[in-house]
Amino acid sequence: MRHVAIVGSGPAGYYTAETLQKAEDIAIDVIDRLPVPYGLIRTGVAPDHQSIKAVSRRYEGVALADNVRFVGHVSVGADVSIDELTGLYDAVVLATGAPNDRPLDIPGADLPGVIGSAAFVGWYNGHPDFSGLNPPLDAPGVAVIGNGNVALDVARILAKTPAEFAGSDIVSHARDALAESAVRHIHILGRRGPHQIAMTPKELGELGHLERASPRVDPADLPDAGDDAMLEPGMRKSVTHLRQFAANPVAKPVTIDFDFFAMPVGLEGDGRVQRVIVERTTLDADLRSHGTGETYAIDAGLVISCIGYQTPPIPGVPYEHGRGRFASDEGRILPGLYAVGWARRGPSGTIGTNKPDGARIAELVLDDIGRGAAKEGRAGLDALLASRDVTPVTFRDWRRIEAAEVAAALDGRPREKFTSVEAMLAAIGR
Ligand code: NAP
Repeated sequence: MRHVAIVGSGPAGYYTAETLQKAEDIAIDVIDRLPVPYGLIRTGVAPDHQSIKAVSRRYEGVALADNVRFVGHVSVGADVSIDELTGLYDAVVLATGAPNDRPLDIPGADLPGVIGSAAFVGWYNGHPDFSGLNPPLDAPGVAVIGNGNVALDVARILAKTPAEFAGSDIVSHARDALAESAVRHIHILGRRGPHQIAMTPKELGELGHLERASPRVDPADLPDAGDDAMLEPGMRKSVTHLRQFAANPVAKPVTIDFDFFAMPVGLEGDGRVQRVIVERTTLDADLRSHGTGETYAIDAGLVISCIGYQTPPIPGVPYEHGRGRFASDEGRILPGLYAVGWARRGPSGTIGTNKPDGARIAELVLDDIGRGAAKEGRAGLDALLASRDVTPVTFRDWRRIEAAEVAAALDGRPREKFTSVEAMLAAIGR
């Protein structure tokens, strides 16, 4: 029997398990520090993007296979170490994602009211680490820093009415706070221009269909229309949306302004953030942004930086600090230790990008471990955890937690998520 542990039950973890599980004589443990599975699908993908979240049914199919086991509420690093896991399993695959925000390294970034997208997204998605975030929504201005899809998610969620959350699984604390929000002016700040955005067309187009909010683009920021011809088709569609926003400004109570060539250089305020100091930029021949020295201020009582994520390092595991991911040779970190998904590549690509990634790392693992080295595997892990009084949450337990969430659903939402580990455990009588 071959034994594989996958650390992290998000998309990269389950896509890896999906391929491994088809091999013979193999047992796979998918370990997660939370009592609930699916990682970013549960706590990262926007709650109003239920069609993307539906992929969790595919992961459920993997999780229910005879040779796959969910080991929830077990924290690698606290309950069991990486060294212990590599001693017990033929292969350990780190599928831990990139849950930490890249730091916003400008003066004032530590002011109250300045938060990273991991925290804000975790808050509206009910991640136990961020349920108590309570972001300040009492001022009309908000600055969203970054020109990627996360910035779009954040701006859209801030702009939506309660009715627009019908059918979503946004948690009640966020829906209620957003319903009372004083936010009226959302600025999306990009340090480069419309041709350098990292926003996909579907997500950008959604901003044009909001009930009470309208996107605005300054036509002067747009390159000549003819220049769009050299863009790849997806980017061209995205830029076409920006051109439509510029050409058809719609008057609605909430505005979403795209500030291009706008680099935040400071955050100011008395006891909390009140304004963003922005420096206008130009691009050099390599399309890098440079400040022009001209600055302006944007009023903002909340600043959300959406500038990318990092994988938390683990002591003893090689790490690339510049890229915020584990150092690996195409997924091989050390003998018996692998990385997959964002922990391997850094935070890029969609959920689907993890499918070929997971399959490839699974093939690597299978090639490397051969018939296995008669390690103890899950029996050894169970004994170790029992000796430490750690009782894992099983997949069957998770399904009871999920059933309780579905039963508690209100207002046409598919579920009312538990937002604390205690509440999750209480649902299974612990
Ligand atoms: P991203 O796509 O890498 O975008 C990060 C943005 O932050 C870029 O516009 C970047 O600008 C900007 N930035 C970085 N450092 C900055 C700084 N110091 N000051 C100002 N701006 C800075 O990252 P993301 O939005 O976090 O998304 C992560 C991944 O998840 C992406 O692959 C994304 O497509 C995916 N995602 C997909 C969906 C979806 O499909 N619906 C939803 C959410 C996320 P530069 O280009 O100038 O560096």
